[in-house]
Amino acid sequence: MPRPTRVAQACALLGSPLLTNGEEPRPLPSVLPYAVGLGTPLAEVPSGKLSWRRLRGACIRSNMGDSALGFTALGLPPGFVGCAVASRSWVVRPALGSAAAHKLSHAEILGRHRRVKEAQGIRKMERERARNLADLERSYATARVAWPPPWRPGGPFADFKGALRGHCARCNACPGFDSPQMAGVSHGPAIDVCVHCGCGSMHHEKLWSDQDRKAEAADDILA
Ligand SMILES: [Zn+2]
Ligand SMILES: [Zn+2]
Repeated sequence: MPRPTRVAQACALLGSPLLTNGEEPRPLPSVLPYAVGLGTPLAEVPSGKLSWRRLRGACIRSNMGDSALGFTALGLPPGFVGCAVASRSWVVRPALGSAAAHKLSHAEILGRHRRVKEAQGIRKMERERARNLADLERSYATARVAWPPPWRPGGPFADFKGALRGHCARCNACPGFDSPQMAGVSHGPAIDVCVHCGCGSMHHEKLWSDQDRKAEAADDILA
């Protein structure tokens, strides 16, 4: 009969390298071919849901791939009782009545990491847009100009460097670039912000004017 190995040994794989009294960081022991993380007891989690965020983070930082068993990491919830069988590639056998272990694959960990990064990027962009629009609104109020400015016919309009700009590729809130059309916003960062969506001009599609096309044709050595 295979000798069971205590899964708890592998929990040392989690977290930062061990540091003792200013010594060099020592690598943690690789007991198992996959990482193991313990789930926080539900009573300590405000959402009441098990989170494997720390375990995913450790796998990303260690750049770990899937083990021969088809997963990178194993999350052990409170109430898990089992053993890893050394002679069977350290497959985990839960005891009768144990909570189920949560397997995390490399693809799932990376996919989740990407989605979290994307969501963080969108939240950051929305905060920046709201801040820019609030700054513009204050400038408009100071100059006693109605806010928000109405959509102007006759576009596309040029940014402050003279480049024609179209729709914003960054947000879903832009009918087309327009710069502040009022006295008082002739300098400072607000001059480069679209009055409709609050994103910088560089996020808006660059359009070619007839002048740009002529200059490009004159530069084309094959013409
Ligand atoms: Zn935008
Ligand atoms: Zn815009």
